[in-house]
Amino acid sequence: MAEQAHDLAPAAELPDRGGSFLFQPVGARQFVTPEQFSAEQRQFFRTGVEFARTEVVQQRERFADQDYRVLRDLIAKAGELGLLGVDVGEEFGGLGLDKVTSMLVAESQAVDGSWATTFGAHTGIGTLPIAFFGTPAQKARYLPDLAAGRKVAAYALSEAGSGSDALGAKTVARLSEDGTHYLVNGGKMWITNGGFADVYVVFLKVDGQRFTAFIVERGTAGFTTGREEHKLGLRGSSTTSLIFEDAKIPSPNVLGEIGKGHKIAFNILNVGRLKLAAFAVGGMKWSLRCGVDYAAQRKQFGKAIAQFGLIREKIARAAAQIYASESMTYRAAGAIDEAIGGRSDPSDVMAAIEEYAIEASIMKVASSEWMFQIIDDMLQIHGGNGFVSDYPIERAYRDNRVNRIFEGTNEINRLLIPGMIFKRAMKGEMPLMEAVTRLEQELADPRHFPAPMGRLAPERRGAEMAKRQFLFAAKSAATLGPALEQRQEVLAALADSAIEVYAMDSILGRTLVTDDRVELRDALCRYFCMESRERVFQRARTALCAVVPPEEVEAQLEQLGSLHRYTPVNSAEVREGIVPAVLEAGGYPLAYA
Ligand SMILES: Cc1cc2nc3c(=O)[nH]c(=O)nc-3n(C[C@H](O)[C@H](O)[C@H](O)COP(=O)(O)OP(=O)(O)OC[C@H]3O[C@@H](n4cnc5c(N)ncnc54)[C@H](O)[C@@H]3O)c2cc1C
Repeated sequence: MAEQAHDLAPAAELPDRGGSFLFQPVGARQFVTPEQFSAEQRQFFRTGVEFARTEVVQQRERFADQDYRVLRDLIAKAGELGLLGVDVGEEFGGLGLDKVTSMLVAESQAVDGSWATTFGAHTGIGTLPIAFFGTPAQKARYLPDLAAGRKVAAYALSEAGSGSDALGAKTVARLSEDGTHYLVNGGKMWITNGGFADVYVVFLKVDGQRFTAFIVERGTAGFTTGREEHKLGLRGSSTTSLIFEDAKIPSPNVLGEIGKGHKIAFNILNVGRLKLAAFAVGGMKWSLRCGVDYAAQRKQFGKAIAQFGLIREKIARAAAQIYASESMTYRAAGAIDEAIGGRSDPSDVMAAIEEYAIEASIMKVASSEWMFQIIDDMLQIHGGNGFVSDYPIERAYRDNRVNRIFEGTNEINRLLIPGMIFKRAMKGEMPLMEAVTRLEQELADPRHFPAPMGRLAPERRGAEMAKRQFLFAAKSAATLGPALEQRQEVLAALADSAIEVYAMDSILGRTLVTDDRVELRDALCRYFCMESRERVFQRARTALCAVVPPEEVEAQLEQLGSLHRYTPVNSAEVREGIVPAVLEAGGYPLAYA
């Protein structure tokens, strides 16, 4: 029947754009995978790993008490190695490298949550607004020092009264009569690197109306930072408020256009989300190593606990989620690099990043939640020892919690995902309605459903059908019209389905073009898809039941169910295709370098 099957949207009809994974067949397009990293990219990763191992880990106990000098020294050393300037142009002291390298460097620093957050705030959300939106004079003034680690950057968007609702900021800037400076009053909250940064990108409202970015230097008259927050985790990182009391900010420090601060704020958050995913890949691998190490040496009932099925299940799931996260993260980074196409104009870079904003939100939610699950499972493997501070997994558990809160909470990112999909569909940029029409044809004649053959055929079919389940639910949700915006439970269910679809599409697309360690890769895919397809169905069903009139629910569920018919796999058997390799490697078994 395969020859009668048709695609929701054949690859040839679509350029590769953000969100196109929802419509294109699995494996329709090649994308960047870790197996294709260049020698230079691998070298950067190794440099980062070596720096983290020899410098960051060694200093951890010293900066755990917020010793800013230690953090500053580490930033300076990272600068000497070129780890801070990957995204900064060469003319301003950086390296101007691709986003894949930038993500690899982020991943390499995930040996400690406090350090990763300090590093991420400096290199990402702190430095990039100037790199992408600064005037030549601003770039020349700030970037060389930031790329070299002589100065530290911070990004200040949140206020006590406006976190998720960032545009509701109340801090006001008024131009002085002589036009030389702005007088600023108000405050920012929870600013990473707040206590010791030199350069702050701050979002203010000019005349209380026009949301605008400014560069504020430490030492500016009227500008001070508050006390360190006492936090659940990330206790080695600095988090303070910023206080502006008639602070005088020179007029040339306006960053970008007056009234266009939202463009900077939200575009930079997309970068932050992508980088958070890369840090999470590193954090997940670190956590798995902790769990595996403990499981191998801890004995109960006369054997190592690593021999017990329920421990092995956690190890297999973690490895599969890491494989998926890696696949998604570097696929998106590679797609952005391709969209940038070697151009160095910041507006081209920003446009490319914006194009993949759906993927950025997907990865932010998925990576933060999967990392949380992995750390939780690895802590569970430690039993009572997981609950005491002698073992590093306890700190990781606390450090990790905030990942679901910053860079846009996971609720906000969940709302953004379907919001962007529907918006692009309405603008004709995404073939959502065409795909729904094809799905209706398929449902009328199921011989048209895809019937892949060969390697990982059941998983490929599962992923194709998951796309259809997403579409089926999206079609019903769309009938709500503008009221859909208020139905957050429906939007979140659609977001969750899209997340799983991107994950399955990425993990399969990567595996199908890779021919080393085939059995292990296939097992990782099978384990992930086995759980993922269940989650898609459950979330699509939730969305459907929330919007369909009661008298139609049964019929609609029957149709949705026809997209979910398959023979489940033996999970223990699949698990055993993974766990021996993880135990042998002492962690995630597919190293880059
Ligand atoms: C350690 C740490 C470091 C940080 N670093 C920085 C930094 O460097 N720079 C910076 O600018 N900020 C930073 N933040 C702030 C962070 O970005 C905000 O805390 C975050 O955006 C959430 O805002 P909020 O805390 O005001 O929560 P709120 O916006 O008040 O949200 C509270 C809850 O309501 C939910 N919610 C809000 N609106 C909606 C909605 N429309 N629909 C459904 N649910 C909703 C949220 O998801 C959340 O669960 C940091 C925070 C922490 C804890």
